[in-house]
Amino acid sequence: MAILEQALDRGLRGEGLSGEEAIELTALADSHVFEMLSVTDKVRRRHKGMEVNLCSIVNAKSGLCKEDCSFCAQSIKYDTGVREYPMLPAETIVEAAKMAESTGAREFSIVTSGTKIEKEQDISILTETLKSMKDAVGMERCASLGILKRDVMKTLKESGLESYHHNLETSASFFPNICTTHGYEEDVQAVRTAKELGFYVCSGGIFGIGETWEDRIELAETLKKLDVDSIPVNFLNPRPGTPLEGAKNLSPIDCLRIIAVFRLMMPRKDIVICGGRHVNLRDLQSLIFAAGANGMMIGNYLTTPGREPGADMQMLKDLGLKPRGTVR
Ligand code: SF4
Repeated sequence: MAILEQALDRGLRGEGLSGEEAIELTALADSHVFEMLSVTDKVRRRHKGMEVNLCSIVNAKSGLCKEDCSFCAQSIKYDTGVREYPMLPAETIVEAAKMAESTGAREFSIVTSGTKIEKEQDISILTETLKSMKDAVGMERCASLGILKRDVMKTLKESGLESYHHNLETSASFFPNICTTHGYEEDVQAVRTAKELGFYVCSGGIFGIGETWEDRIELAETLKKLDVDSIPVNFLNPRPGTPLEGAKNLSPIDCLRIIAVFRLMMPRKDIVICGGRHVNLRDLQSLIFAAGANGMMIGNYLTTPGREPGADMQMLKDLGLKPRGTVR
């Protein structure tokens, strides 16, 4: 197929397909998806080798969020029964980091609900945590704290934060369908600020929320323009009580196709599979690497349990892949 030959040639050279070209891949019949995976596997190996980024997170401040993201159990607008608590103490977050390191994670992200961290007390907990983590664990320090002001991001960087995570979730066109309490441009600006401050920036989205292929490709083009370093890919695991509780899961082949299209549009970037992996991919989850992913989240997700980390480590071993060390 001409589009796959073109994707391979360009991908090996590190040049991604344009959105217009990528849309052709979305029209390939499911029976041809495995041919696409043989292309994405070669492209991933060329740029990422056989190493896999393993990251883990802690939900450091849960629930009580004033935003209305329709996929999220942490919004106060929905009755989801999610645990609610303010910022955890520094010692608890550091303990969670140690635990994550013992299961094999090499990046650790402090995640908080909401779009802002404004209380002085919360900022000092975060700076104290980051400083303690430098001695306590050998993992890369990442955080996902919303749309932070530049000076707060800068303070955290000076305290040892290395990566900043902020998902755009979906395309600008589709965003008003999933969130009405803040604008897409505020999220884009947070990503720009993190890039300007020199963070390694993770920004991606969530799929299976009612978006079209055009939306997925629009998101990929936006991330490409922003030159983010890593793209977290989440698949919706519908949460009871949210507006999307009745959404139908993506098929495993849909998930693989999404990963593959992102790899072929951004051949050199890190692509990390996060929430909803085992629920959506089921027995096909080991194919995420052939589809182009070079990382995955291990352990629990924000509000839902993940797979047992030992099973994920065994999967990597069986595939001949190995966890990447911490030097980026
Ligand atoms: S995704 Fe973030 S901002 Fe949106 S409702 Fe959930 S916690 Fe709040």
